[in-house]
Amino acid sequence: MTTGPAIHRRLRAFDDVPPTADLVVVGAGIVGCATAFFATAAGLRTVVLDARPRPATLTTPASTGAFRLQFDNAEEIALVREGVELFGAFAERAGLPGYDIGLHRSGYLFCARDEASIGRQHRMAALAREAGIDDVELLDGDEARHRFPYLSPDVLAARFRQGDGFLDPVRLAYGFALAASGGEGVERVPGSATAAFVSGARVTGFRLAGDRLLAVETAHGAVAAPNAVIAAGPFLGRVAGLAGLAVDLRPTRRQKLVLPDVPEVPREAPMTIDEETAAHWRPAYGGAFALMTDPTTPPDEPSWNVPTSADFAFRLLDPASATGLAAVTPFWRDVWDRGTPWFPQAGQYEYTPDRRPFIGATVIRGLHLNGGYSGHGVMGATGGSRLLLDLLTGRRTGPDWAINPGSAKANPFRPDRPLDAREHDIL
Ligand SMILES: Cc1cc2nc3c(=O)[nH]c(=O)nc-3n(C[C@H](O)[C@H](O)[C@H](O)COP(=O)(O)OP(=O)(O)OC[C@H]3O[C@@H](n4cnc5c(N)ncnc54)[C@H](O)[C@@H]3O)c2cc1C
Repeated sequence: MTTGPAIHRRLRAFDDVPPTADLVVVGAGIVGCATAFFATAAGLRTVVLDARPRPATLTTPASTGAFRLQFDNAEEIALVREGVELFGAFAERAGLPGYDIGLHRSGYLFCARDEASIGRQHRMAALAREAGIDDVELLDGDEARHRFPYLSPDVLAARFRQGDGFLDPVRLAYGFALAASGGEGVERVPGSATAAFVSGARVTGFRLAGDRLLAVETAHGAVAAPNAVIAAGPFLGRVAGLAGLAVDLRPTRRQKLVLPDVPEVPREAPMTIDEETAAHWRPAYGGAFALMTDPTTPPDEPSWNVPTSADFAFRLLDPASATGLAAVTPFWRDVWDRGTPWFPQAGQYEYTPDRRPFIGATVIRGLHLNGGYSGHGVMGATGGSRLLLDLLTGRRTGPDWAINPGSAKANPFRPDRPLDAREHDIL
């Protein structure tokens, strides 16, 4: 398997900002890289500008890289399903023979310890069924322990879907970027264009003529282009503000614990979630990633350096904590007793008011948004970016979603939709 720096050397990266493009993408996280992939496939000469020294170095590497079709609504299931289908055939679809995105279809296992959580599991499975996902299994406690022997006797029921899983989000982002840039070893599709990736190029403004985009400006020069996509992750609202647009994005800190050496974690274990507290873990390296959703974390300004706190680790690892991992998986008690090394990492969820992404045109002609995935950008970026490019070019290239029957009006993720707050998922 190729290592990070080796992949980076294969990317066709530019030091200078090209003067013109058919499309400029602002941001080279997973969303910007996926946007560039679909843009070049549509034949658009693309320039990707990123403020940082390398692609995929802000939120995307902080991610757990997990994906699931267990959502409470058909639209998000459809968005993620398109990505999941591509993940399974990534090397072939991207023209990168042998390219490995670290895909594990080990499943998502939600564990219930009380009646309220069991009720929720039944509701979620029914909603998934209505949306055409009929392989969510509902297990009683004994069945769950038979399949996953490390579960606590306190687990009364579980909701499991084998087809869910996780991957390496940086490898996925680089895969999209390599394919789009036509870098070394890429099998090009006839009719596709290429993308130039420029790092260290912070976008400082947009040049407009009335309500029409003319160019995207950086400190190192401007790119004249009829179209641009803002894919700036937690900075999406701030970058849109440079064009005078008000976008309601609420970056909110999310932490992750990296435990590189936990021999108790089975390599093929699913993402294992306490349905009551949302504390969860999944295998990574020789150990695990561990996380939890803290609904009391307030939104903040977008940040280039998101602080971590040791308190977060204790809330997950200390078996006495109300959100401890040991409640569902007792071996975490031994991990705590041993004092196993852990390292915190943090990024920001890019929440929108209704926790659905902004995908589509703005009131400035030629300026589009692709972001606000509200913590689901790794799993959602493929479907969302394909949808954005279809809206932008007016050509249908993706599956015949109920949500995208060819008209911008039908797009449930359009940025100008009514933004009603909505009851949201635990993750
Ligand atoms: C702890 C944690 C766990 C997560 N787990 C999951 C998960 O399991 N599954 C999942 O699907 N999602 C998960 N997510 C969410 C996921 O990581 C994000 O939705 C996704 O990475 C967003 O990608 P992005 O490309 O929009 O943003 P980013 O990766 O942040 O990229 C944005 C880019 O824009 C650039 N930029 C910003 N401003 C400018 C400017 N002015 N000029 C030029 N460039 C600019 C930045 O430098 C950056 O490179 C998780 C997030 C966190 C924090």
